[in-house]
Amino acid sequence: MEHVNHPFDQPLNPHTEWDDPMFRLAQQQFLNAAAIMNLDENIRDRLLFPQRTLLVSFPSRRDDYSEVETVFGYRVQHVLTMGPTKGGIRYHEDVNLGEVSALAMWMTWKCSLMELPFGGAKGGVRINPTLLSRPELQRLTRRYTMEIISMIGPERDIPAPDMGTNEQIMAWMMDTYSQQVGYPVPEIVTGKPVVLGGSLGRAEATGRGLVYLIVEAAGFLNIDLGTSTAVVQGFGNVGANAAKFLEENGVQIIAVSDVSGGLYNANGLSVSALQQYVEQHRSLADCTLGERISNEALLELECDILVPAALQNQITEANAAHIKCRLVAEGANGPTTLEADEILQQRGIFVLPDILGNAGGVTVSYFEWVQGTQNVTWTLEEINRRLHMIMTRAFHRTLLRSQRDRITMRTAALIEGIQRVAEAKLARGVFP
Ligand code: GLU
Repeated sequence: MEHVNHPFDQPLNPHTEWDDPMFRLAQQQFLNAAAIMNLDENIRDRLLFPQRTLLVSFPSRRDDYSEVETVFGYRVQHVLTMGPTKGGIRYHEDVNLGEVSALAMWMTWKCSLMELPFGGAKGGVRINPTLLSRPELQRLTRRYTMEIISMIGPERDIPAPDMGTNEQIMAWMMDTYSQQVGYPVPEIVTGKPVVLGGSLGRAEATGRGLVYLIVEAAGFLNIDLGTSTAVVQGFGNVGANAAKFLEENGVQIIAVSDVSGGLYNANGLSVSALQQYVEQHRSLADCTLGERISNEALLELECDILVPAALQNQITEANAAHIKCRLVAEGANGPTTLEADEILQQRGIFVLPDILGNAGGVTVSYFEWVQGTQNVTWTLEEINRRLHMIMTRAFHRTLLRSQRDRITMRTAALIEGIQRVAEAKLARGVFP
């Protein structure tokens, strides 16, 4: 990169802070969309990196007092233009600044696409939560909350669950924050237990929203859900609920997987039986409801609908040519690489991109935040009715743009999201 004698033009060293394949993917997707939509260069450069990042290290004590571990935690706020920032907290052993920044950027486009009054944020702690006891998790969560407390707030930045976290973690975060300010602040997090002001329908919202979109996409693609089959990768909150709602729509679930591997049954798996098994045994390991199948083979099974609802980087250059479905419905964040996207497009496979596909979660998080700040409660019917309206409207807006401009659903969704943020940035101007 050329060095010019300019006070602000110091080239960024790409091998430092954000060096991570997921952040490169998020940036490249953004740059591709920015080029197609002719985005103003100044705004493009402002959106390429998060506005605020916090990296903390803190101690965490094991139950038996044998060790005090040093743990790394993150909170990243990508865009502060649209309102408070919003996004989940991920507990995973591979979490790093680049990954959290990519996820924060996707939250910005996701919230904007759904027309929610939030900018994107994300947090993470680099640990494997499945190896920690409940007291260890509680201590770690409380300390992490304290470490990021200056950054969060109900009008500032509102955390929520993501991979490896759940409503119990949100309850501990809410309690820690409330202890600090001296009064209860349920609106500090979303995805908390209903008894603490959580919203009805939030727990299953991501899976439910994804299936609302699949119904719309199936209509467009002439797929008869009643005679169709689906493969679901990941059986956590998103995958299990997506499988359940697909089954309710008459779709036969022929394979599912989790960290322990996959299960296949050509005659269809019973989602409630799988859920019961996981409740008792924590994972699908040793489950005999179907044949064992590897994660790689699962993704290449012949089916109508493939739902990646696990980790990032699953549909890649290596397997995209072998995927045998008509519709990819992304429940996970970043499951498809740039190269794979191109291959899927050439092969005519329709993609419901992540920022649209999994937006049901943050949409009901928004409902939870509104109910909390207004002191009202909505019924489950009201929540689902509003979720359905927002999801289907975003789907048809994206589809229209994709057809009109002859671009993929992913690029169309990104442009929809980026455009609102760009307009808002122009309207606010530059300070000072
Ligand atoms: N972690 C979820 C996501 O990736 C939900 C975020 C939220 O509810 O704020 O969209």
